[in-house]
Amino acid sequence: MWTSTVVEHHRLRHDIAVVRLIGEVVPFRAGQSVAVAVPQHREVTRRLSPALPPSLDGKLEFHVRALPAGFVSPGIVADTKPGDVWQVGDPAGEMRIDDSGRNVIMIAGGTGLAPLRALILNVSRRRNPPNVFLFFGGRSPRELYAADMLYLLSQRFDWLTVVPVIEQLLDPKWPDKWYERVKVNFGFTVDDVLQGTLADVVGAHGAFKDSQVLVCGSPAMTRSTVDRLVATGTPKENISYDPY
Ligand SMILES: Cc1cc2nc3c(=O)[nH]c(=O)nc-3n(C[C@H](O)[C@H](O)[C@H](O)COP(=O)(O)OP(=O)(O)OC[C@H]3O[C@@H](n4cnc5c(N)ncnc54)[C@H](O)[C@@H]3O)c2cc1C
Repeated sequence: MWTSTVVEHHRLRHDIAVVRLIGEVVPFRAGQSVAVAVPQHREVTRRLSPALPPSLDGKLEFHVRALPAGFVSPGIVADTKPGDVWQVGDPAGEMRIDDSGRNVIMIAGGTGLAPLRALILNVSRRRNPPNVFLFFGGRSPRELYAADMLYLLSQRFDWLTVVPVIEQLLDPKWPDKWYERVKVNFGFTVDDVLQGTLADVVGAHGAFKDSQVLVCGSPAMTRSTVDRLVATGTPKENISYDPY
């Protein structure tokens, strides 16, 4: 295990936080996950996916969703503070963008965005990045916690298209004070958004026969999306996924 120290903790939603750390260099590849032990629960590890590609100065960023009955994730979202020391190790996972130059279709549910964002930033270093189409999904608009950042990236990189996908156009009636506090202009307009589940939306695009397809999100989202891709003609061997 390597040691890393929290330098920033941004709570973006009642259940989502972005945590940034600096420490020893962890030898992971963009798209992989690592095992993390946090001070609240030293005795257990949970897998998290860095949202930045590896950097020589040991910077790490994680996007964490608190599961309602979770043992570790609620504490990370609510109680993390600068100076906390995390143990990080065991990089694993096969998601990558190959060198074929084929289009890349990325499908991210919630914090499943993290490893795909790392891959996007990593591929931006290539002289000729492939075309990347990122479908970023949530149940309602406020679940698209990184829409503003993705909008900026899509403006910066002409090879990147971001498609926000939401199941329902209206947010729940109960206020999320964390969202109200940071509420920023998403950048995307209502015309940019597709409505439905990620499985519905990517299934409706037909078969991705000559593309690499990367899927990341909750086990349920990953299962339903991969099943739908295969049912609508995308060859299994074109699909990589890393279910939570
Ligand atoms: C390869 C990999 C990468 C991951 N990357 C991230 C990441 O970048 N950010 C992040 O927030 N989480 C990520 N996870 C999920 C994370 O490792 C934990 O499983 C999650 O935070 C729950 O831990 P917990 O201790 O709070 O809940 P636990 O007490 O371990 O689990 C509570 C219950 O929730 C179920 N459960 C676990 N995950 C989910 C889920 N996503 N949706 C619905 N039910 C679930 C469990 O089966 C269990 O029944 C990743 C998991 C894997 C396997």
